[in-house]
Amino acid sequence: MYNPKSLKAEEFISHDEVLETLAYAEENKNNVALIDEIIEKAKERKGLSHREASVLLACDIPEKIQECYDLAEQIKKDFYGNRIVMFAPLYLSNYCVNGCVYCPYHMQNKHIPRKKLTQEEIVKEVMALQDMGHKRLALEAGEHPTMNPIEYILESIKTIYSIKHKNGAIRRVNVNIAATTVENYKKLKEAGIGTYILFQETYHKESYEQLHPTGPKSDYAYHTEAMDRAMEGGIDDVGLGVLFGLELYKYEFAALLMHAEHLEAVHGVGPHTISVPRLKRADDIDPEKFDNGIDDETFAKLCALIRISVPYTGMIISTRESQAVREKVIRLGVSQISGASRTSVGGYTEPEPEDESTEQFDVSDKRTLDEVVKWLMELGYIPSFCTACYREGRTGDRFMSLLKAGEIQNCCHPNALITLKEFLMDYASEETKFIGEKLIEAELENIPREKVKEICRDRLVKIEQGIRDFRF
Ligand code: SAM
Repeated sequence: MYNPKSLKAEEFISHDEVLETLAYAEENKNNVALIDEIIEKAKERKGLSHREASVLLACDIPEKIQECYDLAEQIKKDFYGNRIVMFAPLYLSNYCVNGCVYCPYHMQNKHIPRKKLTQEEIVKEVMALQDMGHKRLALEAGEHPTMNPIEYILESIKTIYSIKHKNGAIRRVNVNIAATTVENYKKLKEAGIGTYILFQETYHKESYEQLHPTGPKSDYAYHTEAMDRAMEGGIDDVGLGVLFGLELYKYEFAALLMHAEHLEAVHGVGPHTISVPRLKRADDIDPEKFDNGIDDETFAKLCALIRISVPYTGMIISTRESQAVREKVIRLGVSQISGASRTSVGGYTEPEPEDESTEQFDVSDKRTLDEVVKWLMELGYIPSFCTACYREGRTGDRFMSLLKAGEIQNCCHPNALITLKEFLMDYASEETKFIGEKLIEAELENIPREKVKEICRDRLVKIEQGIRDFRF
């Protein structure tokens, strides 16, 4: 029975409710009056229910889709301005006891080299990331009770936060590790993590069980209820995601929104972010063997509809996607992107020979961080290395209130300029610096409050004098 307030996976992601939603969406996909009504509701910027959003996803009337794209673009501008937050993944270990059939780290893969970073190796990797200019990381690890226990993850987080190399610092560590216990989530919270990210992979229980035949991850309910345990453990910011390509995208889309509605209903705050990874080629994984791949146009439509359905939730896209796809979906709603990523264990310090690779999947966008930053600025975006919100305690509903009050422009905008300035001073090429300085000068004018603008100017001068880490 469907109940968004239930704490049971099969009740808040009710299979029957998803099927009824898909049937309702199919019946109404040409119902222009209803579609117009839903688009009007989306214009209020309070989001859409999974049923409403699913009707828009089913609809293939070109003018209506265009209206959704235009609205997504507008909501993106109104809520997130032209800022794009930058991050990089850091792979700690690819030891894994699970049997995920789409991931090359699955236990049956006997030929992939297994590697786990020592604390000394983590220092080297983090220094390499700091030398590119990164300030925000997403930690990645396989699930292995003895090789990667929670103590190893906690120790690694401590190491990462402690490294101060030149002007570098990792100021926010997000964590993407397997579902765990409330106790362990409490420990992660105490270690000072930013967002806890866990991809659902697929919400379709039967497929989930086939795709995860062995290991602790095979427990659908334990995995699906992880975010409730994380929030119970005190983690305010959680990040959802589906691995597109595993199941039918319409099913995943409806269920993903049901998951967001569930978090809002139970914890009073929805997900902080939604990631939209697509299945990629990897060591012993051929994406062609999975039947549910989606084309770029469908992918863009999904991104736009997520944007208008959950306007307060950040959207993340990784280097799994090409420059061209990233360009398209950034416009439609993506607010965070990774840059210069390595998806192998130790990949930032030791580029591996092809046949020895511990890579999790092929990366499409292989540009350097400097190139990505320059590209974003040429497109009119402000690459932001800001990590202020969570360090100022603006997490969960406190962050959402700031967003809802429209105060972002007096807070995130100057923070973006300040952290971009740090990047330009410490890491950028001459060309990137030139473009960036002009951009900062122009964007200062877009800070609404005079007082904030003045303080921001003053801080920019101080950064030139060598002082770092200001924040609003
Ligand atoms: N091991 C943790 C877990 O099981 O949730 C999380 C870390 S895993 C390194 C991060 C994510 O990579 C997975 O959740 C999955 O969605 C994604 N992934 C796995 N194989 C992939 C592939 N072949 N292509 C694209 N993404 C993949």
